[in-house]
Amino acid sequence: MTPVGSLLAATDLRKSYGPTPALDGASFSVHPGEVVAVMGPSGSGKSTLLHCLAGIVRADSGAISYGGRDLTTMSDAERSSLRRTEFGFVFQFGQLVPELSCTENVALPLRLSGTRRKEAERTAKEWMERLDVADVGHQRPGEVSGGQGQRVAVARALVTSPRVLFADEPTGALDSLNGEQVMQLLTDAARDTNAAVVLVTHEARVAAYSDREVIVRDGKVRDMAGAA
Ligand code: ADP
Repeated sequence: MTPVGSLLAATDLRKSYGPTPALDGASFSVHPGEVVAVMGPSGSGKSTLLHCLAGIVRADSGAISYGGRDLTTMSDAERSSLRRTEFGFVFQFGQLVPELSCTENVALPLRLSGTRRKEAERTAKEWMERLDVADVGHQRPGEVSGGQGQRVAVARALVTSPRVLFADEPTGALDSLNGEQVMQLLTDAARDTNAAVVLVTHEARVAAYSDREVIVRDGKVRDMAGAA
C-alpha cells in the first residue's frame, strides 16, 4: 500500500544478483520536500534500493509508485523519460563531462530535453550562482577543486527542477568542510523547490541534514523512528 501523501513509494522490493538477495522485501517512501537519509553498512542494499527507485534497475518483484503511476510496469522509454525530466542525480564523483565547461555541464540536461542554448545557459548560471560556483563557469571540471566540482554536479542535478533528487554518497569524496557546504546547499535548494531527496550515505554527519533516517540491513529497510 502506498503511504498517504508520498510522492515515491516502494513496497516489498526484491532484487537478487545471483543467490544472495540485494533487496529482500524493502519498503520505502518519501514525501515532496522531504529529505530521507538511507543509511546502513556497506553491501546492505542501499545503492540497489536507490537504483530501483530511480528506475535504473528493475526489481525482481514488488511495486514502486511515483505520483500515482506504477514505475515497475513502465516501458524502458517511459522510465528514461521520467529520469530525464523529473529526477535529478548526484553521485560520489560528480561525473561531469570533462570536455565541456562547467556551465555547459550544468546546462546539459536542459539541452538534452530540447531547451535552446541561450536559455539553458541562463538557467544554468542561476543555479551556479545559488551553489556558489558562478565564477568557475568557463573552466573545465578538471580545472576546479573537488568541492567546486561537486557543487557544479548538484547544480546540474537541480537545473531541470526535478521532483525527486537521488544522491548516492554525494560528499563521499570531499573533506568535511566541503562536504558540509555541499549538504547545506543541496538540502536548502531541495527544500525551497519542494523536491523529495533520497540521500544514500553511511556517514552520520551527512545524514544529520535529513528530515528522517532509515536503515537498510540485509536488504530490508527499517525506519529509525521504529515503524517498519
Ligand atoms: P550498498 O549500497 O549498501 O553498499 P549495494 O546495493 O551496492 O549495497 O549492494 C548490495 C548487494 O548486492 C551486495 O552484496 C553487492 O555485492 C550486490 N550487488 C549490487 N550490485 C550488483 C551488481 N550489479 N552485480 C552483482 N552484485 C551486485
